[in-house]
Amino acid sequence: MTTTLAIANQKGGVAKTTTVASLGAALAELGHSVLLVDLDPQACLTFSLGIDPEDLEVSIHQVLTQGVAAAEVIIATDDGVDLLPSTIELARAEAELLTRTGREQALRAVLEDLAEGGTAYDWVLLDCPPSLGVMTVAALTAADAVLIPLQCETLSHRGVGQLLDTVHDVRRFTNRGLEVWGVLPTLYDGRTNHARAVLETIAETYDLDVVEPPIPKTIKFAEAPAAGRSILATSRSSKGAKAYREAAGALVARAGRRA
Ligand code: ADP
Ligand code: MG
Repeated sequence: MTTTLAIANQKGGVAKTTTVASLGAALAELGHSVLLVDLDPQACLTFSLGIDPEDLEVSIHQVLTQGVAAAEVIIATDDGVDLLPSTIELARAEAELLTRTGREQALRAVLEDLAEGGTAYDWVLLDCPPSLGVMTVAALTAADAVLIPLQCETLSHRGVGQLLDTVHDVRRFTNRGLEVWGVLPTLYDGRTNHARAVLETIAETYDLDVVEPPIPKTIKFAEAPAAGRSILATSRSSKGAKAYREAAGALVARAGRRA
């Protein structure tokens, strides 16, 4: 069975892309087959896996808007995961899909076609852009569950409510079964009581689970994308890599409890 997990938060810089790349590599280490989907026109995920979007003739854009088969676009990466890459062209997809019937279902249909074509993954991780637009709604519609990376600062608060409103709408209109797996604390500075207090407040206010452990803030993360590999490869035994491995284990357990 495939578990499709959307990594979403409309705030930029909260480690969505880092989380997708690192959890993907960690799940692959555990022997799971993994597809990462870059849904951000900035293509940071694609870049960080060592692929230059400028070299690509086709990307998720053609898959979503022109009916190109995902299997023709997917690339195997050095991190042991497959990637459905993005390019800046995807910025147009949002506008192109706006006038299409069933746009919310566009990504779900793509992933279903892929599975029916015989390419079944254990995990599909969706790297959402920093907005609550068409692409994020399409991701939430295609997903079994959503995980919300959260930097534990005072102002992280408001965005979570808006995201959960969107999740509520998606459940109502396009994906009744969408589960909220909770928040993953990122860029976490455990030395401050502040981070812990913010995390507790958010978890309580919105009745959200917290996926443990928090991912510590460490400089090692800055180095990984330049190498075209995730931190699990560039800094194998760093505390950041260990935290993502542990979080991946928690997600595997969580997937086992899926209805
Ligand atoms: P998003 O996709 O939410 O915009 P990114 O994953 O691109 O966020 O991360 C934003 C920046 O923060 C990047 O430069 C990334 O390298 C850095 N970063 C992510 N996680 C950590 C961490 N745990 N410690 C230090 N820097 C991090
Ligand atoms: Mg990103």
